[in-house]
Amino acid sequence: MKYELVVGLEVHCQLNTNSKAFCGCSTRFGNPANSNVCPVCLALPGALPVLNRRVVEDAVKLGLATGCAIAPYSILARKNYFYPDLPKGYQISQFEEPICTEGMLQIDAGEGIRDIRLIRIHIEEDAGKSIHDIGDDTYIDVNRCGVPLLEIVSYPDIRISKEASAYLQKMRQIVKYLGISDGNMEEGSLRCDANVSVRLFGDEEYGTRTEIKNMNSFKNVEKAIEFEMQRHIDVIEAGGAIVQETRLWDADKGETRSMRGKEFAHDYRYFPDPDLVPVLVDQEMLERMRQELPEFPEARAERFVREYGIPAYDAGVLTVEREVADYFECAVAACDDGKTASNWVMGEVMRTLKEKYLDISEFAISPERLGGLIALIAKGTISNTIAKQVFELMQADAASAEDIVLKEGLAQVSDTGAIKATVDEILAANPKQLADYREGKTKLFGFFVGQCMARMKGKANPQVVNEVLKSRLDA
Ligand code: ZN
Ligand code: MN
Repeated sequence: MKYELVVGLEVHCQLNTNSKAFCGCSTRFGNPANSNVCPVCLALPGALPVLNRRVVEDAVKLGLATGCAIAPYSILARKNYFYPDLPKGYQISQFEEPICTEGMLQIDAGEGIRDIRLIRIHIEEDAGKSIHDIGDDTYIDVNRCGVPLLEIVSYPDIRISKEASAYLQKMRQIVKYLGISDGNMEEGSLRCDANVSVRLFGDEEYGTRTEIKNMNSFKNVEKAIEFEMQRHIDVIEAGGAIVQETRLWDADKGETRSMRGKEFAHDYRYFPDPDLVPVLVDQEMLERMRQELPEFPEARAERFVREYGIPAYDAGVLTVEREVADYFECAVAACDDGKTASNWVMGEVMRTLKEKYLDISEFAISPERLGGLIALIAKGTISNTIAKQVFELMQADAASAEDIVLKEGLAQVSDTGAIKATVDEILAANPKQLADYREGKTKLFGFFVGQCMARMKGKANPQVVNEVLKSRLDA
């Protein structure tokens, strides 16, 4: 391959504040169209915006989490453009003096850790939404106007398409750990534009870039970048030149197509918004935000290994999502057995969530109840096999594992008398196998164990069954 890919990403992250960025309107998704609206978010004459404090705090947190410099003084600016979903005629954003600058995100796309540098993170507001799928007309819903966003702009440090999705996944993980966004890409809480160019390997200078929009999944980001890279190479190889423009990714057709010529900053006639005071971040606020930062995945995984004695691999899987890590820790607290809890969360719990398309927050078995189940295995009240049955029952029954075991009569039988009686019955019912065994076919031991377990409906303590069988067979 002669050509090297060069990609920079612009990510828009929707914050999960209750009210909008500059007014008290609700940000609730799914309210009737044009109901979350007031004179401020429509910029009616005389209406004055006031910046939501939470937005500043969230921006500072994300800045701290990505190693940015936090500006003690930053400016909100008007970005002027005409579009039907922007009734104000301008978007409040930040231009010359953003709140966060020069940060870094470490990603691992499977080829070791790489640093992707950030140019800036700035505060801005979202636009409304055009609705094209009702008859032949286009409708406008302004509910989203003024919903707070953080725009995160990276340097063109990405070199392969997989790094772009690794970057997005890392960004999603961080905003979710910070609790500032739900990070949902399909629902548009995390939106990504990619600036793509190619150059000959060894070249210092960047090629002409195009900007791709409308990629709404990790997979689509990779596909769109791959497509665009190949398109650039084809144009250049055919002796043509890339036109700097904005292109739309069409996921159905698997291609990008020209949307509009590239706008430049001067097209937007940015100027400081005269209605808004500068954003000030003092030492006290900076310190308070630092205190509120969560324990991040890498540190948490290391602690899991140390504290619960689980393998590093398990710790890595369990800390990908903050909610899963929280769930695991709660379950351990209830059973005091890190390794077993980790096996159950990574096994049965995650399998069930995947099968039922559930989020862990929607899962019917609370971590405390799962811990209770695991404690019953450790005590020898139930076997692992029965525990899986109880686990299934617990999804439809809010009772504790202990109560379900009692109610369903699933407690393990360790009573030697009952097991001896069953073993004798099984041996009497299978004289041929018994004779074969005694002539040396010792593999039949498993057959007898199976018969005993089946007769006792899986509730016999397997260890006791083994011991009793051994003593009877070798008698
Ligand atoms: Zn409003
Ligand atoms: Mn933007």
